[in-house]
Amino acid sequence: MIKFSVSRLDKEPIELKGTEDKEFIALPENDAYTVVAPLEYALTAVKISGGALITGSCRTVISGVCGRCLEELEQEISADDIELFIDLEDAPEEIDISDDIREELLINLPMNLLCDEDCAGLCSECGNNLNKKSCSCGGKSSGSLAWSALDDLNI
Ligand SMILES: [Zn+2]
Ligand SMILES: [Zn+2]
Repeated sequence: MIKFSVSRLDKEPIELKGTEDKEFIALPENDAYTVVAPLEYALTAVKISGGALITGSCRTVISGVCGRCLEELEQEISADDIELFIDLEDAPEEIDISDDIREELLINLPMNLLCDEDCAGLCSECGNNLNKKSCSCGGKSSGSLAWSALDDLNI
């Protein structure tokens, strides 16, 4: 859990640094990728009028396959400009910001993993990975698999 003491914050800013198990992130049900590294966070809590301001960053690594070429890849995911206001009115002595930090990371998750924005994808004819070598079979890049799946459905 990522938490801090309100009475201590009254006296001084608090540095919150550490890691949480990768299970902490609890990805929404998603077959596209999994979290493979602990969450690392470096945050500072300061007292401001009426509450606490939490700033800092957190990061982890996810693993999955590229949505175009199906190569396995790992990608760092980070929330770099966290700015969180916590209302301290009627707050308990200990504030748990785990959920807030988890949310900050989740909004930075990609919809689709790509090994590279310019990933050439797979040949629609022979399935060759066009990032590795070009094709002479006359096929085209499959582009996004999601879209080609829609084509198959004739939507
Ligand atoms: Zn790719
Ligand atoms: Zn081909």
